[in-house]
Amino acid sequence: MFRQTKSALGKLRQLSFNAQQHTWRLNSSSAKERACQYRPGQKIHGFTVREVVEVPDLFLTAVKLTHDATGAQHLHAARDDSNNLFSVQLRTTPMDSTGVPHILEHTVLCGSKKFPCRDPFFKMLNRSLSTFMNAFTASDYTMYPFSTQNRKDFQNLLSVYLDAVFFPCLREQDFWQEGWRLENKTPTDLNSPLVFKGVVFNEMKGAFSDNERVYAQHLQNKMYPDHTYAVVSGGEPLDIPDLTWEQLRRFHATHYHPSNARFFTYGDLPLEQHLEQIEAEALSKFQRIDPDTEVPPQPRWSSPREDHVTCSPDALAPDPARQDTLCVSYLLGDITDTFEGFTLGLLSSLMISGPNSPFYKALIEPKIGSDFSSVVGYDGSTKEASFSIGLQGMAKEDAERVKQIISRTLDRVIQEGFAEERIEALLHKIEIQMKHQSTNFGLSLASYIASSWNHGGDPVELLQLSDSVAKFRRALKENPRLLQDKVQHYFKDNTHRLTLTMSPDEAYLEKQAGAEEEKLQKKISALTAADRKEIYENGLALLAAQSETQDASCLPALKVSDIEPTVPVTPVQFGAAGGVPVQFCEQPTNGLVYFRAVCSLNTLPEDLRLYVPLFCSIVTKMGSGALDYRQQAQQKDLRTGGMSASPLVTNDSTQLDMYEQSVLLYSSCLDRNLPHMFELWSDIFNSPRFDDVERLRVLVMMSAQELANGISDSGHVYAMTRAARHLTPAGELNETFGGMEQVKFMKKMAETADLDRVIRMLPRIKKHILNPAHMRCAINTTPQNMSNTSAHLESFMKDVAGTWKTRKPVRANIVERPLDPLDAAGLSRKLISDLSFQPCQMKTFFQLPFPVNFVSESIRAVPFCHEDYASLGILARMMTAKFLHGEIREKGGAYGGGARMGGGLFTFYSYRDPNAVQTLSAFRRGVDWAKSGRFTQQDVDEAKLSVFSAVDSPVAPASKGIGRFLSGVTDEELQRHRERLFAVSQRSLLDVAARYLGAGHGTCGVAILGPENEAIRKDPSWIVK
Ligand SMILES: [Zn+2]
Repeated sequence: MFRQTKSALGKLRQLSFNAQQHTWRLNSSSAKERACQYRPGQKIHGFTVREVVEVPDLFLTAVKLTHDATGAQHLHAARDDSNNLFSVQLRTTPMDSTGVPHILEHTVLCGSKKFPCRDPFFKMLNRSLSTFMNAFTASDYTMYPFSTQNRKDFQNLLSVYLDAVFFPCLREQDFWQEGWRLENKTPTDLNSPLVFKGVVFNEMKGAFSDNERVYAQHLQNKMYPDHTYAVVSGGEPLDIPDLTWEQLRRFHATHYHPSNARFFTYGDLPLEQHLEQIEAEALSKFQRIDPDTEVPPQPRWSSPREDHVTCSPDALAPDPARQDTLCVSYLLGDITDTFEGFTLGLLSSLMISGPNSPFYKALIEPKIGSDFSSVVGYDGSTKEASFSIGLQGMAKEDAERVKQIISRTLDRVIQEGFAEERIEALLHKIEIQMKHQSTNFGLSLASYIASSWNHGGDPVELLQLSDSVAKFRRALKENPRLLQDKVQHYFKDNTHRLTLTMSPDEAYLEKQAGAEEEKLQKKISALTAADRKEIYENGLALLAAQSETQDASCLPALKVSDIEPTVPVTPVQFGAAGGVPVQFCEQPTNGLVYFRAVCSLNTLPEDLRLYVPLFCSIVTKMGSGALDYRQQAQQKDLRTGGMSASPLVTNDSTQLDMYEQSVLLYSSCLDRNLPHMFELWSDIFNSPRFDDVERLRVLVMMSAQELANGISDSGHVYAMTRAARHLTPAGELNETFGGMEQVKFMKKMAETADLDRVIRMLPRIKKHILNPAHMRCAINTTPQNMSNTSAHLESFMKDVAGTWKTRKPVRANIVERPLDPLDAAGLSRKLISDLSFQPCQMKTFFQLPFPVNFVSESIRAVPFCHEDYASLGILARMMTAKFLHGEIREKGGAYGGGARMGGGLFTFYSYRDPNAVQTLSAFRRGVDWAKSGRFTQQDVDEAKLSVFSAVDSPVAPASKGIGRFLSGVTDEELQRHRERLFAVSQRSLLDVAARYLGAGHGTCGVAILGPENEAIRKDPSWIVK
């Protein structure tokens, strides 16, 4: 639960304006109207209303308040959305790299005054219907958000969160478990060597196995060298063991105080109740203090600086000879200046986004590097923003050249400015973002305002986005050179500028390990015999505490009877356009149209399969018809909310050896742009431009780099995908499309000098995929807009009729399934039934330069419609909460781990795990635990709540009915599954544990990604890659 602000908040910024509309109520006393009745100066439960502002663009009313006695700030966003959110953020500004705010974030969740049981936070996951629960440590704040659609649940979670944040136990044992400790490698063996353990210690070692993360951290530390941004708020692994329990408690007392807190509530629940509860349960117990946590401005440099850092070599780098990163960062202004931040954000997009931007042309297309540096563009997550530009995957010798290109490109921008059309396209993008409705709007808002508000900026001003757009248009009219002047001022004339290079060092990991060993020996050499004895006893005590049966009865909980008994029905209609089946779903999409098409791969020759992901990643980016790729990108930005293609493997809901293989096309647009969007698709179908080898090379390199970078973050997904490979035919195809096999294939493609062969393959692949004869479509839009959309879809189909060709599937065993079960003669999906498939056991190990492991074991079980599926799903959840979490995270020191049911498979996994094969035996012990029946009805009910909160998580209007469109699973089948979930009993869990998970009963696969492992290397039952 640690989040580096840079990249993560950058991503959230993109998602910022997503809203959920499935709960729109058209009654007169809507939440936002009720909120309009508050008046500035009004007193409510110890708070004073400061400001009430309507924000029509986002359909909300903002109410700003302050707490009279403590000065705590509160912002309420009233909106007719039942997915209510609460968050509290504290300004946490550490002055060392011991990770004190991060370890505190973990430790406050380990028990509090009112809820003294161990780990109430994780326990609440099973006692609530929350749609989101988490905690984040950023560079300068720590945030605790949750969301739920249930009023009682909101009050329960609010109690737990308030008590955790303001009255945590902060026990010494929690500090050892979550932070760091010295302990015998085998806690029960006094003679085993002493090692460092601790959840955050391991988490940060894992986090810094990611080179992009290493670079981002160094860059921030060196750009802002004089205060809190000079340290690692998450914790530098080697500094973490310098933190004491006493320091942790002091940090809590000074930073986790209402006078240093900002509360945010969102949704349709009444504000008064929130305020009353926050005042009664927390704020009334405090007096105002001066928290003294302000971040001073960074003193400006009088001349630019250069610096260099090292990282570990990347075994998966697209080009091993080119692994350097270079980027230039510029310090900008204070982020609390909302309009300046808005303008610089736009300027940043114009400079770096898409193939029409000057830096894409100057840096990416000459192929000096594999992609932009991991830190790129505008970053407003620090008190003063920064802008960075540079490359990764470049050769050391190119450093000077890159610096010159950056400088020359800035000169050119100052001279030439930006095309008006590009500025329009960007403002269009903002309009789409504001209208697009998604399910986590409250959370997006909380993240969006967090940084500026943290430093005293006005959060409401940030939300008034169309005011900023209007102001920007006026400013640009008054001064057409506005953006050029900014480039001159902030980039060209700016002396607070850092050029940071990073290159791999063969001995990096060795040095790291050496430094850790040295630190360890220093700690050990200071120990007396009595200390050692105490360490051993503490280790045993912690183990005993972790193994104790927990009494969680102090915690509030919903009951299974609080769960809705029925599935909400999503009406869809079926029709056709130009002979192609279409599913229509009317939704309150706010004027947007969402288009999807599933294109079958059944006719694609087997030798082309591995190329499908590559094809998908380039097919909307190479240019088409009269448009070259730059013009195409421009039109996409100006007319659509994006166009994409992705491989899709869907398991059949009744048989494990049956699946659908396809490519999913997806795009959205404002209704006024419908003809343009379909025209862009027509061009791609009729005349894609597959002739530009250089363009292809750029796209391939960027995809390969992205895949390689993703492994350290998503290693568990790769391990799970691999473990499933030999268990079902769909599992095998998933590995081909999205597993380690694909990563290696793309690496090979990026290294290939001759891409002409690939260029020649693309039209062949295209003929099979972009073929209306084997396609079905789905449209989600408003009822008013449906017939217009349908007409445009019809004419799109006419336009691409020339690409229609009925082809024979390459495999004979095709099974047709109706899309509408009530109309067996109607539209259908064509699945492959691979009855000859032989599942087999396989253990695969991928040796990678990571200090931690990702472990997975997968067992062939049953398809979704099987009567045991529900029990297995509940069992997976219960094993995770009641056994695996304790074994893998608390005792094992991994960041996370558990079991899940999906794709017909029962799968165990661990994430950023110091252990490898030991974790496999933890999985086995989990099975023994389940088979022994050492669980209670309460445990079963908690697992049900947890499963239902996932099953019932909100669905955005853009995605309603899409599950059915893709998988063919109807609302009736979902209802049947729901009833089975309710019916799960202790008995049925024992029964499925014995039948499916017992040794020798199922077929299982195992995969581990991790550092060199001698035990595995010596064991011939493993395949080492
Ligand atoms: Zn964490």
